[in-house]
Amino acid sequence: MTTALDLLFEPDATPTLEVEGGGRVPVSRIFCVGRNYEAHAAEMGTQVDREAPFWFTKSLHAIVESGSSVAYPPGTGDYHHEIELVVVLGHGGFQVPLDKAQELIFGYAAGLDMTRRDLQLASRAKGRPWDTGKDFEESAVIGKVAPAARIGHPARGRICLSVNGVVKQDADLDHLAWKVPELIANLSTLYRLRPGDLIMTGTPAGVGPVVVGDRLEGEVNGVGAVSLSVSAAAEA
Ligand code: MN
Repeated sequence: MTTALDLLFEPDATPTLEVEGGGRVPVSRIFCVGRNYEAHAAEMGTQVDREAPFWFTKSLHAIVESGSSVAYPPGTGDYHHEIELVVVLGHGGFQVPLDKAQELIFGYAAGLDMTRRDLQLASRAKGRPWDTGKDFEESAVIGKVAPAARIGHPARGRICLSVNGVVKQDADLDHLAWKVPELIANLSTLYRLRPGDLIMTGTPAGVGPVVVGDRLEGEVNGVGAVSLSVSAAAEA
């Protein structure tokens, strides 16, 4: 097929997320917050950043639908789970005031910020970017999106994750150090936010490694569930 742009190969399709009740949301960008629960920051030997949230990003190739089986990723021996509340924007905005931030939100989902912890910590130790530890294929697992019009804006509720039926992470959304409107307001001073932008809001304590054969099941109470199975590393 020849296109008007005369593209030499087909670009990747835009990833989309299923919405509870129908329709799909196209994903624009994936913003992630580091160190947003006190107890998790402590287990990582750090502290919550008080001056401003700490941001990193994942590329669109990170998106994978909840319920998938993903291959153990290359380049790591310490592949970790991080259960998170995911915010899905339905409207754009720039320099959004705190009291208007919630108006940008389309809905919420449960998500997993899968992490190559060994690579992340090696980068951190050298003062280098976290990209190889955080931004890799199938590292952002996202559950069904629950519209805010139906569930409201959850400020509290259990957030938990089990591996093979054993609870590993168990906390409450009210432990988020930077609250969702604060995250949106801050991010909108740095980027012109777009509909379809995602914010992964950080993980509570209890992160740890997963291995081939593991089954991960997470839930954010009042929002939804997310699951993932880890299969053998892919052949070259
Ligand atoms: Mn995270």
